[in-house]
Amino acid sequence: MIDTSPFDGLLLGPLPCPFCGNTAHVKNFSVLHETPAFVAFCETKDCVGRNSNKAFQTEERAITAWNTRAPDLLAEIKRQAEVIQELTLLLKEPVLENLDD
Ligand SMILES: [Zn+2]
Repeated sequence: MIDTSPFDGLLLGPLPCPFCGNTAHVKNFSVLHETPAFVAFCETKDCVGRNSNKAFQTEERAITAWNTRAPDLLAEIKRQAEVIQELTLLLKEPVLENLDD
C-alpha cells in the first residue's frame, strides 16, 4: 500500500479516477443505512470506478481508500485481461472450424 499519510483525506480530496481520469466524488449514503456510509466513486457512467461498493464511516476514510486502492485493482484488471486474452485465443480455433463446415 502507498503511504499517503501527509496527504490523507479531506485535504487532498479524491484523486481523479485511476481508470478513466474523470472526477471522483464522495457521497454519504447514510440515508439508506443507519450508520454513516461514505462511498467514493467515479462520475463516468460506465466506468469500472463507478461501481465502488465499499462504504466507510467517515468521508476521510472513503477518500483515503479511493486514493490508495488503484494499484491493487489495476493489477487485478490486468490479470483478468490476460485471462480473457488467453480464452479468446482458445475460442478462435473452434469458431474457425465451424465456419469451414
Ligand atoms: Zn472512471
